[in-house]
Amino acid sequence: MEEFDIEFVKLKNGIHRFEYQINRSFFDFFKNQEIIAADVQVLAVLNKLDNMIQVDIDGLGTLGFTCDRCLGGVNYPVKSQFKVIYHLNSVENKTDEATEVNLDIMYLSGSQFKLNIGESVYQSFLSTIPFVKRCDDVEGQQCNEEMLERLDSLEDSKESSNETDPRWEELKKLLNKKEK
Ligand SMILES: [Zn+2]
Repeated sequence: MEEFDIEFVKLKNGIHRFEYQINRSFFDFFKNQEIIAADVQVLAVLNKLDNMIQVDIDGLGTLGFTCDRCLGGVNYPVKSQFKVIYHLNSVENKTDEATEVNLDIMYLSGSQFKLNIGESVYQSFLSTIPFVKRCDDVEGQQCNEEMLERLDSLEDSKESSNETDPRWEELKKLLNKKEK
């Protein structure tokens, strides 16, 4: 994650831009197995002030998941936003915690000279992951019909095997006897 290091002591006050290309290996680093593919362009805009550094992280691209329905790969368009505020020469103040989902507040002591936004970039994607992933939910993508048919026939064979459950047969016989 060294590529996400920013040596802020070397930066002048003001705006600085950093660009990153995110792929699958980024998510491997965080041991995320839900995201199976990634192609995202990330722009981090850093604003350095006297006692504070503000970083706005924006991501645009696609994240790939396994479809819940056909088990194929499905690419979702992603647009992520995240903000980190670093207080410089500071110790953590419990009364000043982040209350927003897409905001993080950090504290850097006087001896620190660099910050790393890798974790924040990762967090920025977490809130974009859809709860249910389906090819049909993404424009221009469709579930694998062949796979759906196979899954359907698996379901059918499960159901029909229930119908011929031997215990049912025994019960039927008993009922038939009673009727006679
Ligand atoms: Zn699908």
